[in-house]
Amino acid sequence: MTEIIDGNAVASEIRDGLTDAIETLADVGARPGLATVLMGDDPASQTYVNMKQRDCEEVGIEGHHVDVAGDAPADELYETIDDLNDNPDVHGYLVQDPVPDHIDYREVIRRIDPAKDVDGFHPENVGRLVAGNARFRPCTPHGVQKILEAYDIDTEGADVTIVGRSRIVGKPLANLLIQKAEDGNATVTVCHSRTDDLGEKTRNADIVVAAVGVPELIDGSMIGDNAVVIDVGVNRVEADTEKGYELVGDVDFESANERASAITPVPGGVGPMTRAMLLYNTVKAASLQEEIDVSL
Ligand code: NDP
Repeated sequence: MTEIIDGNAVASEIRDGLTDAIETLADVGARPGLATVLMGDDPASQTYVNMKQRDCEEVGIEGHHVDVAGDAPADELYETIDDLNDNPDVHGYLVQDPVPDHIDYREVIRRIDPAKDVDGFHPENVGRLVAGNARFRPCTPHGVQKILEAYDIDTEGADVTIVGRSRIVGKPLANLLIQKAEDGNATVTVCHSRTDDLGEKTRNADIVVAAVGVPELIDGSMIGDNAVVIDVGVNRVEADTEKGYELVGDVDFESANERASAITPVPGGVGPMTRAMLLYNTVKAASLQEEIDVSL
């Protein structure tokens, strides 16, 4: 019987676990603060930012938000970043990606104070992660690790195949899973669009992580018996629903479900974990900046 992994339940436990830490910090006048910066008016980005603000409110993190006009010069965005770097009430912040074409996102990331970079994308934080001394683990990879932990899925000695080598999911997750650590010690294969015989790589894995952005690319024939399947993908496909679309993962759930021992659904798998880990990183940022140990 395949276990359907409940990402909402695990995320909810993580959020509950943060409540005490947030209160401890608030009691000494250091309520954690998270800011979101949105440049332009992309509707999907607007939705993501609203969700992040709502998440903050629910757990007692102080939400801040800055809108920057989509046609503003880069300097205006940089000024916003400088202000947030200097604002002691903001312990962590992020600039919602994608940014308009005239903005160099890498330069934006470099300007963020690494101590406030709760996405974990600043080169200093990437370097620390690779060195095995992460300050902030990027939210989605960390969320995947927390799911595995919550379901007692041991990574030690496991063969893990990650499909996707992005800066935000595949690469950091591979780095985390190969680390000499209780939640690492895996043998990791990272696949991408030039990988030869993808099915062979996924079939031989104990744990398959799909972070591709191609709807239902990975089907049951590509999954080994009793493997664990973690589907990071979120893809909108046309459907006969009220909204005219539905969300599907990078894994064909029905056929993979027949082979897997455990599988994450889409929605309700990795997505809520990404959101919870952003709150976690914000609390961690506050605890580090305020020098108050809240034992996360
Ligand atoms: P990117 O587009 O940055 O990376 C996709 C990766 O998949 C690339 O490495 C690409 O290879 C690889 N790829 C593309 N096509 C194939 C193929 N046919 N076979 C093998 N590999 C392929 O995507 P992200 O990592 O940002 O996102 C991946 C998915 O995860 C998306 O659906 C996104 O919406 C979702 N997502 C979900 C989150 C959540 O919280 N649930 C958070 C972040 C992302 P190459 O490098 O060669 O181009």
